[in-house]
Parts: sequence; C-alpha cells; structure tokens
Amino acid sequence: MKAAFYTGNRTFEIRDVAPNEPGPGEVRVRVAFNGICGTDMHAYHGAMDKRIGHNRIIGHEMSGRISAIGSGVEGRTIGDPVVVRPLEPCGACPACAAGHSHICHNLKFLGLDTDGALQEEWCVPSFAVHALPTDLPLHHAALCEPVAVACHDVRMGRVSPGEDVLVIGAGPIGVLIAMVARAQGANVAISEINPHRLKTVAELDFDALDPSKTDVAAAIMERTGGKGADVVFEVSGTQAGTNLMTDAAATRGRIVMVAIHTRKPEVDLFRFFWRELELIGVRVYEKEDFDHAIALIASGAIDCERMITDVRDLDAVADAFAAIDAGGPAMKSLIRVAV
Ligand SMILES: [Zn+2]
Ligand SMILES: [Zn+2]
Repeated sequence: MKAAFYTGNRTFEIRDVAPNEPGPGEVRVRVAFNGICGTDMHAYHGAMDKRIGHNRIIGHEMSGRISAIGSGVEGRTIGDPVVVRPLEPCGACPACAAGHSHICHNLKFLGLDTDGALQEEWCVPSFAVHALPTDLPLHHAALCEPVAVACHDVRMGRVSPGEDVLVIGAGPIGVLIAMVARAQGANVAISEINPHRLKTVAELDFDALDPSKTDVAAAIMERTGGKGADVVFEVSGTQAGTNLMTDAAATRGRIVMVAIHTRKPEVDLFRFFWRELELIGVRVYEKEDFDHAIALIASGAIDCERMITDVRDLDAVADAFAAIDAGGPAMKSLIRVAV
C-alpha cells in the first residue's frame, strides 16, 4: 500500500509499504479522504519535529471504510463507513479520572504522536471509531473532525437560539463555528481581514466585517442595539482579535478561546470586571461532539461543497501542502487517499 511520510523540512516521501494488521482492540480502515489542517501545516513547517520526528505519516481529518478487524472488537463490520476521533487518552491521569479524557494529561493524538491517515490502510483503536450513515458522501465525512471542533466550541460557549455571536477569524475552524452557531439559531457576524476569506464568508450569507475598513466592535454594538455579542469566539490568535473579543462582548458575555496563542497577548481584564465577562477555554472535542458533527453534516447544515476547495491524490500530497503555504483561496484541501 502507499503511504506519505513526512521526512522533515517541508518534504514528503511516498513509499510502498506492507499494511499493518490490526492488533487486539483495533480495526484497520481503508482511508478514503484526508483533510489538511492547520496542525498539519505546523508539522510541515518543522515546528513539531521534536514531537513527530522525520519519518512520520501525519493526517487525522479523514473518512474511510473498515477493512480488517482485530481480536476482541465487537460491533464492527468490514465495509462500514467510518471516521476516526483521533484521541487516545491514558485512562489514569486526573483529567481522565474527572471524565475529561479528551484533554488527558498524557493524550496521544493519532496522526501526530502515532502514524496517521495519509496511508491507504490505517490501524486505530476501535473505541476511536464513529460509524457513519451509509449514504453520507465520504468526501463530506472527511470534514467531521474540524466540524466536531466547532461543535465542541459552540457547546462550550452555550450558544442558544436568538443570541448574537461574533466569530473573530474566518479560517476553516472559524467558518465552521459560524455554521454550527447558525444551525443552533444564533445571529452570526464574522470579522476577517483576508479578502479571499471575506468573500467566502459573504457568499455563505454571513455578516462579514473587515477590521481594516470598519470598527468591528462599534458595528457589533450598532447591530445589537448597544448590547454587544452574547458569545465571542476568538479564532484569530492575534492581539487585535484579543482586543476585539473584550470590546465586542455584551454584559455577562461569554468569550470562547479557540485560537492557539503562541505568545501571551495583552488582555483587557478591566473589561472582564466591568462587564462580568466569562472566558472559556476549549480544546479538541468529546465523543458527543463527533456524533453531533456527523448529524449536522448528514442534515446538510454544513455547506461541505463550499468548504472543500480542492482535492488531490496521495501522490500529490506535497503539492497540496505547498499550495496552502502559498496562501490563496484554499479553505479545506482534501487528499484522495484510496478511492
Ligand atoms: Zn485538524
Ligand atoms: Zn489521562
């Protein structure tokens, strides 16, 4: 079978290797599609070399069909369409003991800490597998992982129907949060500076605000009769976004920290005091978020066709990463692994 190995410094090698047999408690999945996400780009840039090395098959946003079943696995059938929730918790740390195994202190992320889905046959623990409705197109299903991130973020932000929501940053996760919040009945505005992304956001019929042209906080206050946004999602990872999140939030507003801030930003803590704001940290997803993501994609609430901007074969994986690196209109790039 073919597998794409990340070999350091923005390079991949496609190799022909023997597929692994699933161990006890594992299933093997024939991978159909794999999406490329920001974390994969981070790995490609060498920023995770210490963690992943130079001989790693990455990839974790995938869909496929079960092709082999290990011993002790029940309730799985060969040919079942599935997606994988790529988390392997230790089961023994304080986070696991408290029921928060998705942020286990010793969490293994499949496709970073172990080999991932950019190979034709992928062995994973059966507990990480979610079955799909049989009529769900597998290229749409490859979006389940990022949609599950959005479902988790919206759930943690306790978004309810009729609430005003501001999403700061319209990369794939920002746009998916906007879609999930809208499906929840919220009124959603998005702040974004990149013209390609602003165009996508406007085509999706969201209220698109460009902070290089508009005072976004003032615009939100105006649209909400001086109230502000009930829930703000900070997805930009910038100081400007961090300023906007407090400026645009309503009294007792919830601010959901989605972005991975690599530096400590300045935060307007006075505003937290003054308006009794709440800050909510979010990371990956829980089982129920994956179930919700699958249901939302199956219902058509997520515009998968608009999200998927390009599909390439596994042989062209290096081109896909290079194209994202060059900027441009890509929202979600998929690799066709074995279809
Ligand atoms: Zn991802
Ligand atoms: Zn643990």
